Amino acid sequence: MRLKVKKQCGDCIACCDGRLVLDIFGKRYSGRPCHYVGKTGCSIYKHRPKNPCRTFNCGWLKDEHFTYPEFLKPNKSGFILMDWKKTKTGIPFIIAVAAREGYNNDAFLWLIDYCGENNLNIEFIMSKTKHYIGSKEFKKEKSGKSNI
Ligand code: SF4
Ligand code: SF4
Repeated sequence: MRLKVKKQCGDCIACCDGRLVLDIFGKRYSGRPCHYVGKTGCSIYKHRPKNPCRTFNCGWLKDEHFTYPEFLKPNKSGFILMDWKKTKTGIPFIIAVAAREGYNNDAFLWLIDYCGENNLNIEFIMSKTKHYIGSKEFKKEKSGKSNI
């Protein structure tokens, strides 16, 4: 039986810093940080809206079996892992959303190796551009071409 862990957001503010599209109190934030985010976190933490702030958990945070190491935490890796998904034909892939200023190359290589060893695929989004990494079938279905 694998040990379960409860991960914590702690000092991470990656999901508030502009790389995800947010709707906070009816105002849309896309490509820019939420108005309420400070250097140490949410300035209205007790009053933050339910959706998305209290309900969103990134893939790293939800991973209670510690598949993803500490360096994949979004404020360390520079990219947010989302939930696993499947293409229309059932090919599994994960979405990773990178920060505009870049990401940690070692963490990214770890993810590529992990997905390669497990026959999984990655949709990597950086500056709103999607890149597809993985099997030929996956890349063909998602974009019709291989661009990584
Ligand atoms: S990106 Fe993940 S770890 Fe970071 S604050 Fe958001 S939910 Fe927490
Ligand atoms: S309201 Fe707070 S928790 Fe929600 S996105 Fe803004 S800074 Fe983040």
